[in-house]
Amino acid sequence: MNFIETRGNDGQHPASVSFSQAILSPISSYGGIYSPESLPDLGQDFLQKHLSSDYKTLARDLLRAFAIDIDEAVINQALDLYDQFDDPKNPVPVIKVEDDLYVSELYHGPTRAFKDMALQPFGIVLSSIAQSRNEEYLILAATSGDTGPAALETFKNRANVKVACMYPDGGTSDVQRLQMVTEDAANLKVIGVKGDFDDTQSALKRLLGSDHFKQKLKQKNIKLSAANSVNFGRIIFQIIYHIHSYLELVRQAAINMGDKVYLDVPSGNFGNALGGYYAMKMGLPVEKILIASNNNNVLTKLIKTGAYDLRDLAVIPTTSPAMDILKSSNIERVLFDLFGFERTRELMKQLDEEHHYQLTDNELAALQKIFAADFCDDNEGKAYIKNAFAKGYLMDPHTATCFKAYETCRDKNLKTIAYSTAEWTKFSPVIANALTGEKDAHDLDALKSIAKEAGIEIPAMINELFEKEIAQKTVIEKDQIENEILSFI
Ligand SMILES: *Cc1c(COP(=O)(O)O)cnc(C)c1O
Repeated sequence: MNFIETRGNDGQHPASVSFSQAILSPISSYGGIYSPESLPDLGQDFLQKHLSSDYKTLARDLLRAFAIDIDEAVINQALDLYDQFDDPKNPVPVIKVEDDLYVSELYHGPTRAFKDMALQPFGIVLSSIAQSRNEEYLILAATSGDTGPAALETFKNRANVKVACMYPDGGTSDVQRLQMVTEDAANLKVIGVKGDFDDTQSALKRLLGSDHFKQKLKQKNIKLSAANSVNFGRIIFQIIYHIHSYLELVRQAAINMGDKVYLDVPSGNFGNALGGYYAMKMGLPVEKILIASNNNNVLTKLIKTGAYDLRDLAVIPTTSPAMDILKSSNIERVLFDLFGFERTRELMKQLDEEHHYQLTDNELAALQKIFAADFCDDNEGKAYIKNAFAKGYLMDPHTATCFKAYETCRDKNLKTIAYSTAEWTKFSPVIANALTGEKDAHDLDALKSIAKEAGIEIPAMINELFEKEIAQKTVIEKDQIENEILSFI
């Protein structure tokens, strides 16, 4: 299957590319991205057939249906990484929390957040494409917390790929920082930047536009790539678990095959929700996809009113920082799928230049057939964490936003699959505050008090972080980033 451009063709970029090309060069004409030319139709047979298959078999057959240009052996090797999740037989447990509410836990991988679901296999795929082309790649990442650890973990010691990962010094949780700075491998460089996440991200953008930097890379024969969430190499692995979660509900006799469900997704860059959208288009019986946000609620407004409006908006720091996003990149693929490339180009151009766009009434109606949305502020989130805990379910602040959408967005009493995107260990100070009222605790103290409240152990891989040697000690000013990375490569 080929991938085509969301904003049409400018005569410079290829109008249609293979999967591996879309992975290596994700940006298409007019600043657009690549989307699948068509989607395979799964049909009831596919679902029925996989009722008794394991996660990897489902994943393999789904990737086969996409007919991508990756060797079966590489795909198998990539999918084998799910064997390193807590339960290799079921890497994504689905837990009943309330009558209609089931939580699909996407955080049982090595870095305890949902980024592992896609980045783990993606690392193998990208490294193998680079090897087969005999090319060297540098992956630049700016992270506010979860992408960095997951990207470092997946590319650690992989051939033909180097990673330089920047994080705002003091702007991540202790656990997130330790997950990065304790990674010791010759192909990884972790850089603390003095400043906030926006500073780090603008530094990255400047670097990507720097002729001096590009020339140096060229001299060394290194190509640039990105592992960010518009990369279809990540999206494809995010379709699988939506289908898996549905099948789990059938297996648990919560629904009959063919019954519709709600998918309830904590959203930032919309990669997770887009995976659900594609699953729905491919025939998964979904009533609607509920888009949960925090106070950075641009997506709620878009889905309620058709207006995407960034004018006079600044990012509001919240207790669910992985969703502190205003420009939600993967929405573009939904626009393209629903309204075509000409309209997508028009809307995205207006967003870039005037910082807003407004959908027509018909367009809004089309969007609302598929999506409903609400946002959950930090205090509400804390109350959901506390209530769920009282009923025996421990969750993180990102997951909590789904509980609000579950209450406010459904107009039918259908079973709902909410997605849990991080383990409690990654955002422990917020959770400890919700459960016991304690304030400003450091991660280690918060972890201990939650473990005590819940009568559980702190997972070994988290505890060990506090003992491990710091391998990555670089903390620098913004203007030193370019030199630092050049000396690394
Ligand atoms: C990345 C992330 C999200 C947002 O996912 P998108 O696919 O960008 O919408 C939500 N929660 C956590 C914990 C994350 O790391």
